[in-house]
Parts: sequence; C-alpha cells; structure tokens
Amino acid sequence: MRGSKAEASTRCKNCSAVLHGRFCSACGQKVYTDKDDSVYGMAKEALHFITHFEGKFLTTLKTIFGNPGQLSLDHANGIRQRYYKPISLYLMLVVLYLVFPMFQGLNMHMTTYERTFLGGTFTAIIEGKASIRGVSVDEIGERFDEKSRTTSKVLLLMLIPLTAPILRVLLGRGRKWYHDLVLATEVNAFYLLVFYLIAPLVVGLVITITGVQFQDEAMAIAFVGFFAAYGAVLLHRIQRGPWWRSAMKGTALAVMHTAMLMFVYKPLLFLATMALL
Ligand SMILES: [Zn+2]
Repeated sequence: MRGSKAEASTRCKNCSAVLHGRFCSACGQKVYTDKDDSVYGMAKEALHFITHFEGKFLTTLKTIFGNPGQLSLDHANGIRQRYYKPISLYLMLVVLYLVFPMFQGLNMHMTTYERTFLGGTFTAIIEGKASIRGVSVDEIGERFDEKSRTTSKVLLLMLIPLTAPILRVLLGRGRKWYHDLVLATEVNAFYLLVFYLIAPLVVGLVITITGVQFQDEAMAIAFVGFFAAYGAVLLHRIQRGPWWRSAMKGTALAVMHTAMLMFVYKPLLFLATMALL
C-alpha cells in the first residue's frame, strides 16, 4: 500500500484527479512546483501573460484583416488555441467603446432619429414621453443623449444575433446556428474596428491635413462598397464556388447588414434608450 504523502503528490490539488503530466487532465490546472512559487516564477508568469496575450491578440487581428473568414473557419474546425476567442474580442471592443467616449460608435443624438425614415413615429414617442414626465422635449433630448452614450454601446452585443440570420440566408441552412453566430461575431468585430475606429480616425486626419470635405452620401456609398468587397472575400473563404457568386453574396451582405442597422438595430436602440428615461 502506498503512503498518503506519495498519493497526495500524484493527485491534482485543485480537483483531486490523478495526475499524468504537467497539467491536470480533468480541470486543466498546472502542476505547480517550488520554482513556480518564487519571485522568478511570478516574473515569468507576468511576462508570459503579456507576451501570450499580445501574441494571440495580434494573431487574431491579423487574421481578421488579412484573411477574412479564416478565424471562424478555424474555430469551426477546432483550431482555437492560437487565437483570442471571437466573442472575447468582441466584448473587449464593446468595453473599449464604453471606456473611451470619443468613439461614437452607433451613438446618435435624439434629434438625428427624428430625421430618419421613422421620424414621425419617433417624434410622437418623444412628445409622449415629455408629457408623461412633465418636462420639455429639449429636456428629454438631453436625458436621451446622456443615456444613449451607454445603451448604444451595451446594445452592440445585439448586432451578433441580428447578423447571424443574414449569414444564414446567404450561406444556406446546412450550417450549424453556432457557426453562423461565430461568423457574425467576426463580421461585426471587423465592422466596428473599421467603420467606427479606423475610418473616423483616417477621415478626421485627411480633413485636418487637406481641408477637403466629404459628402455624407459619397462616404456612405464608399463604406458600403468596401464592406461588400470584404463580404465577398469572407464568404468565398467559407463557401468556395465561382467568384461572381461570392461577389453577389458579399454585396447582399453589405446591403442587408446596412438595412439591419437602419431598420432594426437603430429603432431598437431608440426604443431601449427611451424606455430607460
Ligand atoms: Zn484538476
């Protein structure tokens, strides 16, 4: 019979499973040694966290920009360890937008909603709210703009379930919903990074340096065109076939995603923000 001391050293201290190798096969905890529990071990751990996080993070960003669709494809095929999890990346972007208020994201002033296609309905809701609260429409506008700074960012999470059905229409029903959700996460991470982080910075810089003003319509068309090209490459990687078909599907993705933002996401954002006033 083995001694209790020898027994304890071959079992995981976290979950008591029998150990084989340097990590517990049941809970994943590392088998720590005296070397780990030292100043050297702590420094190594810190360095490991930084380099590892950075390495994975950069690999993920490089893949999203350089090979659209590859992150989702690899995720579906079980290649995951080298990347940052798509949903974690997306959540990090949402937190980034919450922490840095200069990134407007999809934040719109209340008065902007009144100029959209549902403007009349929005105005009626605003006036109804003002009379219920017994304050002026301007007062409601101020409260709305204050509140929407947070809601417009937290609700960015809704973009994932709202984009997945679009991808399902374009890629067919043979796929698992889960894979459409992962692909939707990748698409929206790219979308937020490009259109709400990089593009505003670049456009702002060009305007500052050259003094050239861009027409809103021209910019909108350029953005949708760029998104269509991205969509074509993305969908072609997921579903091989003739390029003309990928190009058409990419265009459909850009148009449907833009329509989803205008006709579903923004009205939802308006109603959610209004309900919280
Ligand atoms: Zn364990």
